[in-house]
Amino acid sequence: MSQQRIYEFFHWEKQMPKILLVEDNEMNRDMLTRRLQRRGYQIVSAGDGEQGLSLARAAAPDLILMDITLPGMDGWEVARLLKADQRTRRIPIIALTARVLLTDQAKAFEVGCDDYDTKPIDFGRLTEKIGSLLVEKKPL
Ligand code: MN
Repeated sequence: MSQQRIYEFFHWEKQMPKILLVEDNEMNRDMLTRRLQRRGYQIVSAGDGEQGLSLARAAAPDLILMDITLPGMDGWEVARLLKADQRTRRIPIIALTARVLLTDQAKAFEVGCDDYDTKPIDFGRLTEKIGSLLVEKKPL
């Protein structure tokens, strides 16, 4: 999925999609934010689950990148709550975990995540997934 194609899909809004990044590790959060901004995305970010939940409701992101290991409410719980809420259930969620376990992958889909990827982040692969989901799930 090229950036041009994503841009065309979102062109009527005259801006690139907004991504909510929920990640407690500040270094990872800043790095990923910068790289996504360089691709043209608007980024809002949260450092824990509670903040992620309220930003998902308040900022109306087009997609959510959800770290799973978070202090307090973990990413599974946040995803579950977002998918149970009429206001936020259509926002695609990509779960990010450091564990390459099939059980984690199964759990991601069980709680309603739309995709799943592992850390350390392969940026090329992640942006492919982001692009596909944004186009596929965009409301008409
Ligand atoms: Mn974490």
